[in-house]
Amino acid sequence: MKKKEIVELLSLKEPEAVRSLYERAYATKLKTVGNKVYFRGIIEYSNICTKNCYYCGIRRENQKNSRYEMSSKEVIEAGLWAFENRYGSVVIQSGERNDKQFVDKIKGIIKELKTLTSGKLGITLSLGEQSREVFEEWYVAGAHRYLLRIETTNPELYSKCHPSDHSMLKRLDCLRILKEIGYQTGTGVMIGLPGQTLSHLADDILFFRDFDIDMIGMGPYVIHQETPFSRYKDKVDHEENLQLSLKMIAITRLIMPDINIASTTALQAINPQGREMGLKAGANIIMPVITDIKYRKSYQLYNNKPCLDENSDMCKSCLEGRIATIGEEIGYSEWGDSPHFTGRKNDKV
Ligand code: SAH
Ligand code: SF4
Repeated sequence: MKKKEIVELLSLKEPEAVRSLYERAYATKLKTVGNKVYFRGIIEYSNICTKNCYYCGIRRENQKNSRYEMSSKEVIEAGLWAFENRYGSVVIQSGERNDKQFVDKIKGIIKELKTLTSGKLGITLSLGEQSREVFEEWYVAGAHRYLLRIETTNPELYSKCHPSDHSMLKRLDCLRILKEIGYQTGTGVMIGLPGQTLSHLADDILFFRDFDIDMIGMGPYVIHQETPFSRYKDKVDHEENLQLSLKMIAITRLIMPDINIASTTALQAINPQGREMGLKAGANIIMPVITDIKYRKSYQLYNNKPCLDENSDMCKSCLEGRIATIGEEIGYSEWGDSPHFTGRKNDKV
């Protein structure tokens, strides 16, 4: 697909045309990855972050947030809950830290979770930019997937959204290293950032394709009131961002038919049915939060985070019901690796 065509699809407004785009993407999904949804339980390890992204609620300079870090025992308990409830894998996500204490603690957690589940629980990390050595250490310890969103592939927009010491090139470099090490590599962007155009978003999709990415986690940009970007609060149209995100999912499914695409929680922050809408537009992964309720309120990247008061058991049965209503199955106890990654790995061998 050419860039011009992507921009045209992104600008579709007529409801019938939009519906037909989603239907095409859904049919492609059924043919390639099937109608199984895989769960990745998200453990929000800590809201301590050394970075200061202008859009994010847990940025270093937000002093209104009380900071926490889970103990290893708490993370292991959450991981075992996921395993016992037949979630094929977990995602450990956190604000970014690079100190040795952090690196070693994460390594210990990965090893223990692997040992306690006889290697069966899949472990994805979403812990920001790290050195090659750290990525390698965690990989050797047993993590096999890594999520690092590029946020936007447009250099000017990237610098508008981040302080000058945050570098898009460094992030790109990290993505390259992750792939070289052998991680299933995931990236994504925020959709509807102030100043973002349809042309930028089309370039983002082409980047996913050209980088040959295995997984995508992208979703709407949502305002957080305690951030510098809250100054755009009257300009950001959340409903528009939701629609644009669904189109991004659908077009990415058409261009990269066999990758894993997440229907992200931010979709649900805008519309209670947001995640189901994402699945119907071509996504096949859901990342239910499994963090203990006592921490959930402190891990708010954006306003309106859903399910703050629901524990993991409640979230599980709620999700089962929601997924049944749209006629999909849950891939319990499976890692649910993307056929794309399996193909890429086999090509290499
Ligand atoms: N610190 C790590 C992981 C946690 S942040 C990292 O940055 O990679 C995970 C993702 O949350 C980010 O990649 C960003 O895309 C998303 N995010 C942060 N603030 C957001 C907001 N206001 N709206 C929507 N997504 C946001
Ligand atoms: Fe920290 Fe990630 Fe938020 Fe940036 S997006 S401030 S790195 S948690």
